[in-house]
Amino acid sequence: MSDEAPSPRLLAIDDSELIHRLLQVRLQGERLELHGALSAQEGLQKARELMPEVILLDIELDTMDGFEVLAHLKSDPKTQDIAVIFISAVSDTMDRVRGLDLGAVDFIAKPFEVAELKARVRSALRMQHLVKMLEHRAQIDSLSGLWNRRYFDQRLQQEWSEARRHGRSLSLIMCDVDRFKRLNDQFGHPFGDQVIERVAQILSGGRGSDITCRYGGEEFGVILPSTAADRALEVAERHRVAIESHTWSGHDDVIVTSSFGVADLTSLPTDAGMEQLVQAADMALYRAKQSGRNRVELATHQRLEATDSGG
Ligand code: GH3
Ligand code: MG
Ligand code: MG
Ligand code: MG
Repeated sequence: MSDEAPSPRLLAIDDSELIHRLLQVRLQGERLELHGALSAQEGLQKARELMPEVILLDIELDTMDGFEVLAHLKSDPKTQDIAVIFISAVSDTMDRVRGLDLGAVDFIAKPFEVAELKARVRSALRMQHLVKMLEHRAQIDSLSGLWNRRYFDQRLQQEWSEARRHGRSLSLIMCDVDRFKRLNDQFGHPFGDQVIERVAQILSGGRGSDITCRYGGEEFGVILPSTAADRALEVAERHRVAIESHTWSGHDDVIVTSSFGVADLTSLPTDAGMEQLVQAADMALYRAKQSGRNRVELATHQRLEATDSGG
């Protein structure tokens, strides 16, 4: 077994069988998984199914030309980031311009030199890799290594829709470090940073499915898919205790505490948006602060229900 990453997938969309046979022979031994489609329709379908890293796209196809295929690929969020290299028998400058303007990454004229084709595919893959890396970085908070606010908003929206669609529960924990400004003032910003890093680690130590994000400053949000509030309360309480009992190196006598607000979908009207889930958790957090800090509070509506039925 190899421990290398899986081979990148390459999809060739061309109505000429000859081209497919040629690619098959010439790309043998390359670290590439080669797939082929003989028509625009088949190509678009396979693009969605396979999610290849690179598509070689013929301009002269039967029912739809390559430009239209490219436009389809670019208009579909699922396929819009696939690198597309045009291949064409006519190497007209206007075609090249049009293709690049539509979002193709490169252009190869038929008949092509295999060395050139390989080099262009490699270059497209490199670009693809860089773009993915940058996209990933734009979602990571550099101090804590957690997902950032941008990712939080995006992911919560996604989990929200999933939960609504499948009738599943969804919980949100908001956590804010207590008297953090004072910690900074008393022990300096480097200590404050150390606290943020450690709290981030503690909050990420739950189930793999929990999504821990730095919401901003010393505030964190944990999204818990398929989890109801009673479970989320237990998780938050465990985190609260872990933060409170942590010993800070170089500051043995310091105790850092944090407050938590928990909400799930049952605390909201059925037509509520995800912002209201954040708001509910935030209000619970605010109550935790008001009532003395270092505690976990549940969104009000739920607390009433829990008291009603809990006897
Ligand atoms: P409360 O218990 O009500 O939450 O009080 P607090 O002092 O924690 O709340 P406040 O929002 O007044 O202060 C948060 C402080 O966090 C202010 C800001 O200077 C500090 N802060 C925000 N981000 C960072 C960071 O990345 N590193 C450090 N060291 N401090 C930060
Ligand atoms: Mg053709
Ligand atoms: Mg605070
Ligand atoms: Mg705060």
